[in-house]
Amino acid sequence: MAHQAVQELIGLLPDGVVITGPDEIEKYREDFAHDGSAGTPIAVVRAESAEQVQQTVRWAAEHRVPVVPRGAGTGLSGGSSAVDGGITLCLERMRGVEIDPACQVAIVEPGALNVEVKRAAAEHGLWYPPDPSSYEICSIGGNLATNAGGLCCVKYGVTTDYVLGIDVVLADGTQVSLGGKRIKDVAGLSLLKLFVGSEGTLGVITKAILRLVPAQTVGATVVSSFPSMTAASRAVVAIRTLLRPAMLELMDNPSIRAVEEWRSHGLDGAAGALLIAQSDAPDAACAAEVELMRRCCEEAGATEAFTTTDPTEAELFVSARRNAFHALETRGSVLFEDVGVPVPLLPDLVDGVAAIAARCEVEIAVVAHAGDGNTHPVIVYDGTDPACVDRARKAFEEVMALAISLGGTITGEHGVGRAKKGALPDQLGEEVMALTRRVKDALDPDGLLNPGAVL
Ligand SMILES: Cc1cc2nc3c(=O)[nH]c(=O)nc-3n(C[C@H](O)[C@H](O)[C@H](O)COP(=O)(O)OP(=O)(O)OC[C@H]3O[C@@H](n4cnc5c(N)ncnc54)[C@H](O)[C@@H]3O)c2cc1C
Repeated sequence: MAHQAVQELIGLLPDGVVITGPDEIEKYREDFAHDGSAGTPIAVVRAESAEQVQQTVRWAAEHRVPVVPRGAGTGLSGGSSAVDGGITLCLERMRGVEIDPACQVAIVEPGALNVEVKRAAAEHGLWYPPDPSSYEICSIGGNLATNAGGLCCVKYGVTTDYVLGIDVVLADGTQVSLGGKRIKDVAGLSLLKLFVGSEGTLGVITKAILRLVPAQTVGATVVSSFPSMTAASRAVVAIRTLLRPAMLELMDNPSIRAVEEWRSHGLDGAAGALLIAQSDAPDAACAAEVELMRRCCEEAGATEAFTTTDPTEAELFVSARRNAFHALETRGSVLFEDVGVPVPLLPDLVDGVAAIAARCEVEIAVVAHAGDGNTHPVIVYDGTDPACVDRARKAFEEVMALAISLGGTITGEHGVGRAKKGALPDQLGEEVMALTRRVKDALDPDGLLNPGAVL
């Protein structure tokens, strides 16, 4: 039966769009979480147009086949992991990017990489701010579906703040357009925002209209070393009370050392923590922001606060921070956390994570979009030792429980996916979970879109 249905799908779509060979589909099974939860799809559809997405979803609805939407597969919570007996609907071939400079928007197909949108916008002196560390390898569709954050979000906001419109294919194959090139639009319910962050569980995004802003220039970067994460996070709280930097990123000692061992960026391997702060304010305002940030760091106990206005030098530090996940992955098996708290509670969160690491006897390296209170404790462990695996999983759960106890969230930007859904009710509570299920049931009554993710 499944075989017959797949043959029908192959017949519906142009040659090469549907692939079924075990070797060919292997690279579409897992995302970057590599959490072992992925199943084996009966086929992978590499759609080339919105129409093909509609045809695929209609076919899936008719045959009751689960559909896992997939962008570039860089997710860190198992959101695009394949399911047994389902299909993976990959948008990587839909790459169009068009800039409308008069409206200051980008009209983008979902498979376009974040960096491709940035580059196209830059040709018109414009900028698409959301910048996940993975911006060179992740897709806009994935960014919208997870409401991705990044490094400049502390000042410029997250993905949803830049989404003016989308086309989305619903579970029955109907395509709707929500929003448009309008900066202001309050007609009807805010359905557009419902789909942003819905992790492929409510529909498949086939087009996005993204707001652009005039390009900014980084004026200065302040890199401060601290004896401990507690001291560095106190500096973060002080800075965020006084100003809104263009970037405020934190690395702890294990992540500094991991990056240095992986590929040297010239970081101080002896520092307890490194805080990278940027200002893109103009002229005198930039100097004033730098002065304030330096003072906050020194008062919080920084052993060094170094300022550079050289973009190449600054990029070396920023890329060290961006590369932390890749570096940590080379040290063993990893579990990526993404917890966030209100900014003033950042010191409590980092202290709590250190206590969990000690209690569970695992290494937890911490990098953070600190200015947003969003941390990524990365649990590094020996995946071949069952006892170690158990301790790592325990630490993973405890970090989420800690964040909730501090009034925080289990995920600031990576999404719930499959890796974190067990903890979602603890954060949202019964009534919000029930409301969430009612929304899901209304839009996807047969539960075919990304089953097993989020809910
Ligand atoms: C080194 C590294 C650094 C990272 N840094 C950051 C960071 O700073 N900030 C951040 O937010 N994330 C970060 N991430 C996580 C990841 O890159 C983001 O979650 C990204 O938005 C995922 O995009 P993707 O195209 O890879 O999506 P995928 O992994 O393919 O999918 C992610 C989710 O989106 C859904 N989806 C994908 N496309 C569509 C679509 N067209 N319609 C409907 N649903 C869809 C999938 O079903 C899945 O639930 C990082 C990842 C890596 C590997």
